[in-house]
Amino acid sequence: MTPNPFAQERLLFAPATPDADAIPTIFAFPNEYTVGITSLGYQIVWATLAVRSDIEVSRLFTDISEQLPRHPELLGFSLSWELDYVNILNLLESLEIPIWASKRTDNHPIVFGGGPVFTANPEPFADFFDVILLGDGENLIDNFIDACKEVRTADRQTKLRHLAQVPGVYVPSLYEVTYLDATEGIKSIQSVDSEIPSMVEKQTYRGNTLSASTVVTEKAAWENIYMVEVVRSCPEMCRFCLASYLTLPFRTASLEESLIPAIDRGLTVTNRLGLLGASVTQHPEFEALLEHLNHPKYDGVRLSLSSVRTNTVTVKLAQILTNRDSKSVTIAVESGSERLRKIVNKKLTNDEIIQAAINAKAGGLKGIKLYGMAGIPGEEMEDLEATVAMMKAIRKAAPGLRLTLGCSTFVPKSHTPFQWFGVDKDAEKRLKFLDKEMRKLGLEFRPESYNWSVIQGLLSKGDRRLSRLLELVRHYGDTLGSYRRAFKELRGQLPEMDFYVFQEWDLEQVLPWSHLKGPLPEATLKKHLAEAMTHTTRQQDKGCENSLSPV
Ligand code: SF4
Repeated sequence: MTPNPFAQERLLFAPATPDADAIPTIFAFPNEYTVGITSLGYQIVWATLAVRSDIEVSRLFTDISEQLPRHPELLGFSLSWELDYVNILNLLESLEIPIWASKRTDNHPIVFGGGPVFTANPEPFADFFDVILLGDGENLIDNFIDACKEVRTADRQTKLRHLAQVPGVYVPSLYEVTYLDATEGIKSIQSVDSEIPSMVEKQTYRGNTLSASTVVTEKAAWENIYMVEVVRSCPEMCRFCLASYLTLPFRTASLEESLIPAIDRGLTVTNRLGLLGASVTQHPEFEALLEHLNHPKYDGVRLSLSSVRTNTVTVKLAQILTNRDSKSVTIAVESGSERLRKIVNKKLTNDEIIQAAINAKAGGLKGIKLYGMAGIPGEEMEDLEATVAMMKAIRKAAPGLRLTLGCSTFVPKSHTPFQWFGVDKDAEKRLKFLDKEMRKLGLEFRPESYNWSVIQGLLSKGDRRLSRLLELVRHYGDTLGSYRRAFKELRGQLPEMDFYVFQEWDLEQVLPWSHLKGPLPEATLKKHLAEAMTHTTRQQDKGCENSLSPV
């Protein structure tokens, strides 16, 4: 990295000049600059702080920082990837701030966190944070800062109690968790007294202008990219999908008022455009947007789409992507088995997948990447064989098109209908089976590490007893073995790893996030789960009243 990447940034907003008594604030991303500055969420929150003259914000990454205040009053972290928590702890130490919220005094800043990981399940990290912001940042950040100003000179406890009144602001220390037993599940989660809200509601922004890059730089991981959020959430509601369930309802940016002006603004400083969203082609005016981008004035623009719904891969889309310098398209198919796709509510047929490949080729794309999952609840060996058969059929239908199959392991996520499931212990074997079969076909197979999925499963379903474990793990290294070692060391003080990662939880169990209100009530998630189970092969799974019954 050159000495000062900040000097190479092209800003698309005007930072304010801080007032004399502006609140000294550090806003950190717990990874290197190139990673952090590529996060649209980080860019947006930083700009939201930087346009306020009552805040003096400095950015901090693991490898570089702006000039930091000597006595920050606020310290924020944006977390996009769970395993970056290690860097949060390291950065706190480097700033001489206690990593445990309970050890901080009036002389320390209020440490807050935000981002998708925390909104899904902040509990494993709860003891490290004074405040966690849940949900969309649009109004939440400003409301949080305004509330901070109201109690700026108060003692720490008064500040925290005041902040806990702001919708979406979660103060973990003001919620008491009791356990059935040290090594068992949760008995109850209650606010410490009646003045603190018993539930914290994730905030949902409902405007028709979504976010767009506030900074473009050649030092970003995607060099010089200007990102525009086309849609937020996804209406498909695949039963495992956090990107859909956690962020409902589905929202779209208005084409004329928001998207096109944002794109034109960005393209004054770069020619690389990324359209972001859980499923960008779901935008009701996506065709018109493509038409617009097909105009000769956009010749020379490099266009990338974050995700495309399989049945929207038309020849025209492929042609436009080809003309705009894309070589391939990525589609998530989950499995080649139609039965499994019914279980997860993926409304897609094998014929549509094959047609997408034919269209991609006809439109001039060189390759297509398919994403699947192993260990989906209810999966049998026949389902994996169906995936192999599907890949064969695609190869036959679109010869010469480069085919790649990426595959992760199913990890249960909070606030989804599959939150009660565990990670499948056989998923690693299943990944190996697919690997072998793809080799035989001469197709590229890219599995995600099974061990990482196990760690993700742990953090996904963890409660706040994991904070101590995470603190130990960071001294042992970032392998699954380190987590196992830490569990051994804390034996008797918290449940075994199996409880969090592999066990299916009872539907009546108190969940670690049951005091944090997501978009849908638990009863609806249970209904969707029961509906999914009607597609499993075992008869006893169909009731799904009180227990999951292993599928
Ligand atoms: S289509 Fe994709 S983004 Fe939408 S719910 Fe399904 S997996 Fe999630």
